[in-house]
Amino acid sequence: MQSQEHCRILKLIFTAFLAFYFLMSFTVLADDSTAVEKHGLLTVTGNRIVDQHGNPVVLRGMSLFWSQWIGKYYNYDCVKWLRDDWHCTVIRAAMAVESGGYLSNPEVEKTKIKTVIDACIDLGIYVILDWHDHNAQNHQDQAIAFFEEIADEYGEYPNLIYEIFNEPLQVSWASVVKPYANAVVDAIRAIDGDNLIVVGTPTWSQDVDVATASPLVQTNIAYALHFYARTHKSSFRNKAMTALNRGYALFVSEFGTCESNGSGEMDVVEVETWMNFMEYHQISWCNWSIADKEETSAALKPGASETGGWSADQISESGLLIRNYIINGNTGQINDIAVDRQTPAEFRLAQNYPNPFNLSTRLGFSMSEDAEVLLQIYDLSGQLVRTLQHNYLPAGHYACIWNADTDVGTQVACGIYLIRLEAWSNCRCVTDSKKMVLLK
Ligand code: MG
Repeated sequence: MQSQEHCRILKLIFTAFLAFYFLMSFTVLADDSTAVEKHGLLTVTGNRIVDQHGNPVVLRGMSLFWSQWIGKYYNYDCVKWLRDDWHCTVIRAAMAVESGGYLSNPEVEKTKIKTVIDACIDLGIYVILDWHDHNAQNHQDQAIAFFEEIADEYGEYPNLIYEIFNEPLQVSWASVVKPYANAVVDAIRAIDGDNLIVVGTPTWSQDVDVATASPLVQTNIAYALHFYARTHKSSFRNKAMTALNRGYALFVSEFGTCESNGSGEMDVVEVETWMNFMEYHQISWCNWSIADKEETSAALKPGASETGGWSADQISESGLLIRNYIINGNTGQINDIAVDRQTPAEFRLAQNYPNPFNLSTRLGFSMSEDAEVLLQIYDLSGQLVRTLQHNYLPAGHYACIWNADTDVGTQVACGIYLIRLEAWSNCRCVTDSKKMVLLK
């Protein structure tokens, strides 16, 4: 009798477990809330941007091009396509100020910007309202009037992020940019006390180290860091580290995959390094740009439809690369590096799991000391397939996901691959490798 009673209790426990499991599965499947419903109002806490629950949030999305030149993508359908197909959680509306922009045609440019803001609010994603100007210190009154109008009309929506000065030129932070930023931030704060404000920094928004040496005193401020991967490398990440180490938050509101003029060669390895850096430090980003211009940084090929619906052959090489990063990042498939900072006893590359695998697999490694880490995948002929991590990392346990199905614009064939980990620490290099099998 007693064993029958045990069986009955076990059955009950098992049934309850199944019911709980199905309920949880349903709950996960039913979670179709938008990015803004999930995260709500963004605020700066220390050197992170956090959501309404206090959790660090990383937005990944696209910047539109100068509104006066390629304003045709400033429409609802295009924004919807960027949300639904590219999985963008943020769009940057780059309102041109000079060169035939807002100063010449305020109503025309403002209408474009408001169209994008309205679309993002309706679609539940974040929108950066970018005063796309290199000389904003000369247009402070116009900037204040514009931001006051926007704050008054949209300040209640958590979607809105103000970017008050795209890229100051080689001008002084102390005597040019900071006084402008103080005036514009105070004007916004008088109306909208809480939405995130991104502040441009000298030298085309590269000098975050200079700005954070004498930071603004207002709250909810992040500093803009811009880079172009072929031009701006580790010394610019060092500037970012200086700002982060001082306790200030950064927002990469614009970056390109190529040279700083927006064209020239792409640098996919450096893009990967920057991506890992931004993921590791939980920095949000927008890529430059949704444009169908003949230049490397343009994400679209000439003639790509104004309303989205782009097939792969209408997207540029840079666009395909970035689209994958956005999809992988915003759908949780990226090589986002999970960290457990308990110091392991040894340096070790773990066997991937699952293995064999047919879509994605988890790669883990442990380091007993801080080290510069290179984690790469090779095919059996020794050809490099993918660099998953190239970072300086503190000691700890790490894991990342490699999604072979949506990998960087390439079709990865089934077969045997080699995972190789290289770690440099105190002039010593340790390596380890494992085989894994991709089945399709
Ligand atoms: Mg507000």
